[in-house]
Amino acid sequence: MPNGRDATHSGPTEKCGVVGVSLEERDAARPLYYSLYALQHRGQESAGIVTHDGFQQHSHVEMGLVGDAFGEDDIADLRGSAGIGHVRYPTAGSVNKSCAQPFTVSFKSGALGLSHNGNLVNADEVREELAAQGHAFTSDGDTEVIAHDLARNLLESDLVRAVKRTMGRIHGSYSLTITHDDTVLGVRDPEGNRPLCIGELEDGYVLASESAAIDTLDGELVRDVRPGELVVLQPGGEGFDSYQLFERENTAHCFFEHVYFARPDSVIDDELVYEVRRELGRQLWEEGGIETDVVMPVPDSGRAFASGYAEAAQEEGSGVEFAEGLMKNRYVGRTFIMPTQDERERAVRLKLNPIKSTVEGKTVTLIDDSIVRGTTSTQLVDLLKDCGAEEVHMRIGAPPIVAPCYMGIDMATREELIAADKSVEEIREAIAADSLSYLSTEAVAEALGRSQADLCLGCVTGEYPYDVEGEETDREVTRPEIGGVAGTDD
Ligand code: SF4
Repeated sequence: MPNGRDATHSGPTEKCGVVGVSLEERDAARPLYYSLYALQHRGQESAGIVTHDGFQQHSHVEMGLVGDAFGEDDIADLRGSAGIGHVRYPTAGSVNKSCAQPFTVSFKSGALGLSHNGNLVNADEVREELAAQGHAFTSDGDTEVIAHDLARNLLESDLVRAVKRTMGRIHGSYSLTITHDDTVLGVRDPEGNRPLCIGELEDGYVLASESAAIDTLDGELVRDVRPGELVVLQPGGEGFDSYQLFERENTAHCFFEHVYFARPDSVIDDELVYEVRRELGRQLWEEGGIETDVVMPVPDSGRAFASGYAEAAQEEGSGVEFAEGLMKNRYVGRTFIMPTQDERERAVRLKLNPIKSTVEGKTVTLIDDSIVRGTTSTQLVDLLKDCGAEEVHMRIGAPPIVAPCYMGIDMATREELIAADKSVEEIREAIAADSLSYLSTEAVAEALGRSQADLCLGCVTGEYPYDVEGEETDREVTRPEIGGVAGTDD
């Protein structure tokens, strides 16, 4: 996996990647297909593309990896120079084609296709209201809720007003790419929780969850879609129009995108992910550095953190040596994509092997980006000690994960999270490390160059930027009143 997510890392899982393309003449399907390849790390359960040729909508959505989901004939059948794509990693229990995307619906004023990254926290309320008005739903997904709401609003309003009305009614995290006939739109929720950026190609424009997809198409990153902004790509790839539909005092960018999900070679909200991770590593040394013989990353997730950490240590005169002490077997991953606890434990042994000479008789600092259940960390400490490490110290480039995510990340439940009810010392004991320290939320904000008030830190503070039932909020926020006045603001 490009960002290091795999079987040995029993961590949170990003649920989706989205893309949209509008070109002058050539068909959009192939660039969409390549973009989905670039976003494969954001979802491996299903892949789909919807295009429009000016007369008709074409769609191909399949379970599986991008390479397996599309054949040459499928790409050829997806005609038209405008389209969107999606890769998805659903939470357990909803692995079926009816939840795969893009979601499509045809109605009186045209055809809609929708790709969604994120999660609405008031989808049930909106669905109930629409169902009472006669809308028939085919899935339990929140994307269909957005599609029906938008379709309804499009019967009464122009495109921009309709999107604004829908945005006024849905509450939660969403980065969307949408086709309305052959017009491609990009929308980011007013808090800007999930990423979305705009790129320019030789013959058109592209919208994508991460800039790495734009690079794959030899395009130039123009900028991020702003929180609360609607971007409309002009048919024919001539340009794009921007509508700032909502504006909040504070954003709520998911800090975990930078720490964990995104590819290191992507630029998100103006920051190169790789550099942010190195800076987090530097902060980790500042806050919890420890003198050991070697510092080594958990491959691949801890690599950028460990290089920043070692660099900061060496600048301060530490004799710590940066070493790759764990070697990865790259051919194991797929078998264990959604493992049981038992499989997960075995997966670590299959996947990683220590290099004896860099470990034996040495004191070791092992660096990773997070501890979720603690299974992997326990196994790794054990592995290094078995290999002759004198001491194993763990340093984590993020704060302890204490609460679940309601914004579209499959994070594990509170019961599964090792930090939900354990102190750092209790976790250290459980994973049998000689010492353990995490990064503070202050250091995370500093490395991202943002105030904590502009980040979502819900999973590490237990306070969320959205009105989630039964949970605390970190700001003044209430969900829209469905059936009331909210949503008619145009
Ligand atoms: S709760 Fe955590 S993973 Fe979820 S959006 Fe917020 S920061 Fe990201």
